[in-house]
Amino acid sequence: MKTVCELNQCAGCMACLEVCPVKAVHIQDSIRFYNAFIDPDRCTGCHRCHSICPVHTPPGQTEPILWKQGWASDSTVRKAAASGGIASAIEMSFVRQGGVVYSCLFQAGKFQFKKAENLEIVRQFAGSQYVKSSPEGIYTEILRYLRDGRKVLFVGLPCQAAAVKNFTKSHKNLYLIDLVCHGTPSPVLLDMFLHDQGISLNGIRRISFRRKNQFRLAADGRDIAAGVWDAYTTAFCDAVFYTESCYSCRYAQIHRVSDLTLGDSWGSQLPMPQQKLGISLILCQNKKGKNLLLSAEIHLEEVDLEKAVSCNHQLQHPSFRHRKRDRFFDEVEQTRNVQRSVWKCFPIKFLKKSIKSFLIKQRSSLWKESHGQQT
Ligand SMILES: Cc1cc2nc3c(=O)[nH]c(=O)nc-3n(C[C@H](O)[C@H](O)[C@H](O)COP(=O)(O)OP(=O)(O)OC[C@H]3O[C@@H](n4cnc5c(N)ncnc54)[C@H](O)[C@@H]3O)c2cc1C
Repeated sequence: MKTVCELNQCAGCMACLEVCPVKAVHIQDSIRFYNAFIDPDRCTGCHRCHSICPVHTPPGQTEPILWKQGWASDSTVRKAAASGGIASAIEMSFVRQGGVVYSCLFQAGKFQFKKAENLEIVRQFAGSQYVKSSPEGIYTEILRYLRDGRKVLFVGLPCQAAAVKNFTKSHKNLYLIDLVCHGTPSPVLLDMFLHDQGISLNGIRRISFRRKNQFRLAADGRDIAAGVWDAYTTAFCDAVFYTESCYSCRYAQIHRVSDLTLGDSWGSQLPMPQQKLGISLILCQNKKGKNLLLSAEIHLEEVDLEKAVSCNHQLQHPSFRHRKRDRFFDEVEQTRNVQRSVWKCFPIKFLKKSIKSFLIKQRSSLWKESHGQQT
């Protein structure tokens, strides 16, 4: 069957589903890759799907004109955020001024895009979800708002921002923020991994992938592997299980697709106490980006762009396809067990993790014993 973009290179933005007037496209997530298949019996050959696909037809990308590092002035906003809370602070000022914000939130087991016109929903956007999110169903709605004269801010991954840009033909009322992106795995892998831990993705209310500079998975406030790296985070940080398209992502570079780009300010030379609270890297590509920054309640500092880029490879090239990726997927397809498949690919890491877990448990039982003796 024909596909919208090259076979196995679909980024999962879902825009082709919405643009097709005869509903001839369907997306298949086979965990190694996504594909947007075209039903030949329905397709009329209008090529709308090709024209909005961010892989087939990438929109223009530009170099930053301004770069800063910073954080939200409100300490509660900064605390709840992934890094410095710049995204949250800008989203808040945007809705206060009557605009509509679209971004990703975790709800009922899904990582989907929602609309926010008030602070309550914007607050729920805070944090980074290290999984492929789905903007399905929002494109037509965004276009309708723009045509009605409303200002719309979209905050998402670079491929998703590119799809929104294509779909809306870079409408003058559209504001785009993209995140520096390492790559994303299918949410099916996260679901499988949590299932191994006796947790149902559908059954939890909150999920967190990091606490500032500490990367680890927690469900409803409970760490999956207390004090040590869990298998999901290991595979995410080592770029083992992203969907195939992420390893050739054309948006992982310094020329950006959006008005503003946000990431972590790795390599920052600001004092350590500030770094522990979270500092965002900000790349501004144009006047719209500058306006977003000027309107938000944020604190900005100078940043050394060369150093920031050298500490963040996604601003130079996509993540490298891990040499154990195929082996990992072969294992998962056989066992349906993500944890076992990760540790089978990384036996030394597993050994180190097991020793550390053992020492943590020993220390805690010793502490309990001595505490019990004292009282
Ligand atoms: C999958 C992924 C990979 C990343 N990789 C890197 C990296 O390699 N290097 C780097 O410097 N930064 C990376 N980031 C960006 C970083 O984690 C922070 O999102 C960024 O620094 C902004 O922080 P903040 O405190 O301003 O955001 P916050 O104020 O916490 O707001 C976060 C915003 O991001 C949106 N968001 C969260 N998860 C997703 C998702 N899966 N899809 C779409 N939108 C989402 C939220 O809805 C919210 O609007 C990545 C983010 C994601 C989601």
